[in-house]
Amino acid sequence: MSTATPARTPPRLLRVRRTERLTPEMLRVTLAGPALAGFPLDSAGAHIKLMFAREGQVDPVLPTLGPDGPIWPPAHLKPILRTYTVARYDEAAGELDVDFVLHGDDGIASRWAARARPGDAIGVAGPGGPPRFQPGADWHLVIGDPSALAMVASVLEGLPAEARGYALVEVPNRHEIRPLPVPGTVELRWLSRDGATAGDSRLLLQAVQRLPWLPGRVSVSLAGESAQVVAIRDHLLRERGVARADLYAVPYWKDRHTEEAYHEERHRLMDEVAEAATAGE
Ligand SMILES: Cc1cc2nc3c(=O)[nH]c(=O)nc-3n(C[C@H](O)[C@H](O)[C@H](O)COP(=O)(O)OP(=O)(O)OC[C@H]3O[C@@H](n4cnc5c(N)ncnc54)[C@H](O)[C@@H]3O)c2cc1C
Repeated sequence: MSTATPARTPPRLLRVRRTERLTPEMLRVTLAGPALAGFPLDSAGAHIKLMFAREGQVDPVLPTLGPDGPIWPPAHLKPILRTYTVARYDEAAGELDVDFVLHGDDGIASRWAARARPGDAIGVAGPGGPPRFQPGADWHLVIGDPSALAMVASVLEGLPAEARGYALVEVPNRHEIRPLPVPGTVELRWLSRDGATAGDSRLLLQAVQRLPWLPGRVSVSLAGESAQVVAIRDHLLRERGVARADLYAVPYWKDRHTEEAYHEERHRLMDEVAEAATAGE
């Protein structure tokens, strides 16, 4: 896992090379193009910003990079932004995979992915984001929902062969279960909501509360729907004494809220936990 800050590069205009249905509600989109050259190696699991064309545009109009940061096109041309994860970057093949939850046509990203055809254009900025796990920890707890499966898979793949711990993944139904690269000493548990609403579910929280705690320092990688990420994060910090520095906890989305509606709240929640850590909680 690379933690180095990548050199600043302007967003890349990439095109769909192919798509692959991983499960009924998960689509892998493989992106390629000359602009992918120089994409940081070892970036699986890192955050990327996707830039989608607005209605009426064929290709998105991407910002350029000025000395003080991005220079955006005027508001009516500005691309629509969503945050996703690098599922795989293959330098030799010149391919970048992004795994999309297909949650319906009410989200621009989900709708774009469901209709993606070879040649369709998208902008990609990044990769970036904090480290997803601490390789030197005594054991690992990896927690997510389908939106976080690329992060979960990258952490499991990056763990040493003898790493110990648990991976807990909540899915909307059993059809979303798929093979993951789990070290033999990590126990993977799938939890199915059987169609219940994500925002009301507490399956992951209950599973964490019941976990037999292993001795030593734990590294936690946690992402998914906001309500459970926040509840699990608070449980880990306050009741399990997990150190903030050993906790990657990012609410990836919020039930019944678009990214535009949720963006500010996510940043407030993440600032809150940073302050709690400074205060020694
Ligand atoms: C760091 C980071 C990494 C992420 N990586 C990934 C990734 O690799 N793959 C991925 O699929 N998502 C990922 N997400 C989550 C993704 O950004 C959000 O799900 C985003 O809201 C999707 O945008 P949209 O345009 O499809 O829907 P929006 O316009 O944002 O929302 C429309 C409606 O769909 C609902 N909705 C949004 N996401 C989901 C979902 N996952 N399941 C069910 N309903 C949903 C919303 O609650 C809302 O009601 C990541 C988020 C972050 C912050």
